[in-house]
Amino acid sequence: MTQEHQPASAMQPADASWDKEQLAAWDKRYFWHPFTQMQVYAREDNVIFARGAGNYLYDLDGKAYLDAISSLWCNVHGHRHPRLDAALQAQMGRVAHSTTLGASNPPAILLAKRLAELAPAGLERVFYSEDGAEAVEIAVKMAFHFWRNSGRPEKRRFLTLDNAYHGDTVGAVSVGGMDLFHNVYQDLLFHADRLPSPYGLARALFGARDWDQPAATAAWLQRLEEMLRERGGEIAALVMESGIQGAAGLLPFPKGILAGARALCDRHDVLLILDEVATGFGRTGRLFACEHEAVRPDLMALGKGLSGGYLPLAATLTTQRIYDAFLGEFGETRQFYHGHTFTGNPLACAVALENLQIFEDEQILERLAGRIRHLHDGLAAFWQHPHVGAVRQFGLMVGIEVVADKSTGSAYPYGERVEYAISRAAIERGVYTRPLGDTLVLMPPLSITAEEIDRILATLAEALDAVTSAPRT
Ligand SMILES: *Cc1c(COP(=O)(O)O)cnc(C)c1O
Repeated sequence: MTQEHQPASAMQPADASWDKEQLAAWDKRYFWHPFTQMQVYAREDNVIFARGAGNYLYDLDGKAYLDAISSLWCNVHGHRHPRLDAALQAQMGRVAHSTTLGASNPPAILLAKRLAELAPAGLERVFYSEDGAEAVEIAVKMAFHFWRNSGRPEKRRFLTLDNAYHGDTVGAVSVGGMDLFHNVYQDLLFHADRLPSPYGLARALFGARDWDQPAATAAWLQRLEEMLRERGGEIAALVMESGIQGAAGLLPFPKGILAGARALCDRHDVLLILDEVATGFGRTGRLFACEHEAVRPDLMALGKGLSGGYLPLAATLTTQRIYDAFLGEFGETRQFYHGHTFTGNPLACAVALENLQIFEDEQILERLAGRIRHLHDGLAAFWQHPHVGAVRQFGLMVGIEVVADKSTGSAYPYGERVEYAISRAAIERGVYTRPLGDTLVLMPPLSITAEEIDRILATLAEALDAVTSAPRT
């Protein structure tokens, strides 16, 4: 069953009770938005989404927008999917929330079992939280605590990558590597050792078109090996995104990085934490991106698409080996001291369970390959554009790098917000997107159709032309 997109019926009279001018004013008066310069936001017109249906969102006037970034990378099967809505309503008829501290609930139990069955073999213990940053932070604390409980407290350092993004809490920022977001908080963070970004190194060696080379993989793995040889005895874990660095501008890894990192971590007795928050749940064409290289991390962070993009839900999956290190009698104080009020929330777990069932019943992954290829073919033309420096794709995750000058590859000045202007031009044309630095981002829901992909690409090309050919002010 696929949901129909019904722009006309998506609007119902109830929306008329919302006063658009009033809401826009109160939005600017009271609501401090994430990752937003509010002084600029306050003088612009911003979209207020009132409804969604399928791959579309609708504002208060009923204007439709194709959701080309899956509501910030989390929507999976479209908005208001009948089965997800029904699963949520069914659970609401039972209970919205009950604690999982020392107690349990059916959706959380069933979802943990399902995740353990679907995850790479060996990941069989599930710890819930609400957001991706928490899932990563929990993995970091578990890795640290694991070595303490194993009598190896000297293994307390973390290894991370330039351009990494793992979320915005202090622990997640500590293992991040995006200087623009992170430098200001430097004094607040714990130290992590850093390796180059796999894409960054590969591109520096082989250029924007030919970066995906075995020699690039070998060069990066050599850096990792040197680091592990020097400091492996003190390193608790290597933390990395799974196959592509998302927030830094969609920077895919050369083939073999994940498998190579897994082998080196094994050799040096270092845990591997893979952040699948963005890549999980089909976004790269497989359920989890690490499946492309048959890698099983020691800890895997999930979020975003876990609930189909419906509710805040995240999870940290780990192995029996790590789990066992926390076992003991109560007085031995080996337990994991971590939990959140809404851990294992039954509404979120119920909708996540149905999300996974849809993958199976509708053969979502089997049907995805054709659309990923269609997207790839459509993207080829962007390489010719005079203001595009690179086009990057991993599955349905796409970054189009905008340049001021193609011959030098130089970016537009940060303050000019050229990429925002391009995204805004696309939004005006009915395609909702949001850039990352100098990169335009596309990350449509898995339910996107070939026709919708065509429309997104055509709209983006138009927006790109309109903004880059206009005289700069
Ligand atoms: C979005 C993201 C996070 C953070 O998730 P939140 O739910 O925003 O806290 C962590 N890691 C990656 C790779 C992400 O893309």
